[in-house]
Amino acid sequence: MANYGHGMRAPEQIICVDCGGTCHLLPHPETEFQPGDPVAYRCSDCMDRWDIVMPDEDDGRGDMPPEGA
Ligand SMILES: [Zn+2]
Repeated sequence: MANYGHGMRAPEQIICVDCGGTCHLLPHPETEFQPGDPVAYRCSDCMDRWDIVMPDEDDGRGDMPPEGA
């Protein structure tokens, strides 16, 4: 009876991988996404754009790519 499978909200802010600044969600915060959908962010520090793919409901919690050593 889990409430999966429908829309999910993306976090409104993420940390910029590049500069450590704050990236803000470009779509409206109440926009719902499906797993696998790209979600666009804009960094307020370096103005880079980041596209995060919403995690699959199976893979669950890892929403950031693994960082190499
Ligand atoms: Zn940045």
